[in-house]
Amino acid sequence: MGLGKRTDLKISVSNKDLCRSCGKCSKVCPMQLAPYKEFSDKNQIDNEHCIRCSTCVKNCPVEILYLGTEEEAKGCNLEISRK
Ligand code: SF4
Ligand code: SF4
Repeated sequence: MGLGKRTDLKISVSNKDLCRSCGKCSKVCPMQLAPYKEFSDKNQIDNEHCIRCSTCVKNCPVEILYLGTEEEAKGCNLEISRK
């Protein structure tokens, strides 16, 4: 069960539509999670096993992952469109 504090940093996605489902974030995750399959309505990953190592963030080829708060993730839906 997540604590859900608004200031908690979680893996977040800036634009789900840009995800290629390439699975790289999953392949590099030391906890064997699959971030791209777990994006919530709030554009975040609510997984208690995530250790926030940011390995997935660094390895996403389209750079849509980041470590952010719920507030940031909410506002991020339409904002970013890198090419
Ligand atoms: S690495 Fe990026 S593009 Fe690939 S599945 Fe994960 S989030 Fe999607
Ligand atoms: S931050 Fe680390 S543990 Fe969490 S999903 Fe990304 S690679 Fe996995």
